Amino acid sequence: MSQGRQGRPDRPRNPPPHVYSTRDLDRCAELRGDAQWLAARRRDATSLVLPMAGLRVPVQEQEEGPRARLLPLGELGGSLPEEAIFLGLLQDRAVFVWPEEGGAFTAIDMVELRSVGSLLPRRDAGLLAYARALVHWHARHRFCGACGRATRSIHGGHVRLCASCGLEVFPRTDPAVIVLVTFGDRCLLGRSPRFPAGMYSTLAGFVEPAEGLEDAVRREVAEEVGLALGAVRYRSSQPWPFPQSLMLGFRAEAVDRTLRIDHAELEDAAWFGRAELLAESPPVRLPGADSIARFLIEEWLLEG
Ligand SMILES: [Zn+2]
Repeated sequence: MSQGRQGRPDRPRNPPPHVYSTRDLDRCAELRGDAQWLAARRRDATSLVLPMAGLRVPVQEQEEGPRARLLPLGELGGSLPEEAIFLGLLQDRAVFVWPEEGGAFTAIDMVELRSVGSLLPRRDAGLLAYARALVHWHARHRFCGACGRATRSIHGGHVRLCASCGLEVFPRTDPAVIVLVTFGDRCLLGRSPRFPAGMYSTLAGFVEPAEGLEDAVRREVAEEVGLALGAVRYRSSQPWPFPQSLMLGFRAEAVDRTLRIDHAELEDAAWFGRAELLAESPPVRLPGADSIARFLIEEWLLEG
């Protein structure tokens, strides 16, 4: 399996629940405030630990492919520090993230999550995504946005509290819309200057304050390619912890096909037919197999 492979797939890659969803984990939000229970789990030899190096995640190669490296606390010895982040329960065992900067886990392969996302079992990809998102959030909220004093992690790492003014801050998720626009039997793909060579994808952008999702879709498409849309239909969502987005996937029908590309945002955009995208040598490279963009495009390709 490779992210670059094209040609007609049997079914869309990355169907819902999309890669990086955490449906298999019981998050146990009600237990995060139970300090005694959490302290006991941080000493429990059967608890599971996900060590991390910065934002890199622990993975081990097995015969079937890469897997998340979860270590029983008993193997590590001792207990976890209070700052260990509680992710939830996996088959009744508590899972903690241990962000380690001091090089204590040199024997463990740490990788960028996106390099293995589409190769991991869904459960593992979800756990690692959740861990990465929370570690990133903690690293950027060490100080209070209201008074500037230090904050500390409470509730198993799901709240940061300012001891000076009492402000509580919660993990942040930024909604972004992503849309496959079609006109008749063609779909619109665009290319950002940040993309790898040859890659084209669906249009996307962040939702702004006090903006509905459908309005964000219409605004982004109008801004980037100057198209007005008819019907806009929600499809599905994907957590995208790079670093902290939630991608809200849509399909939309354009009212005409004339593009006015904003070259500050897009290097190029064009309409593509199914036959050319499914050909042995397609004119463009599609986005990664772990992305909702790939799913939206392939779902449409297989409808024809
Ligand atoms: Zn404060």
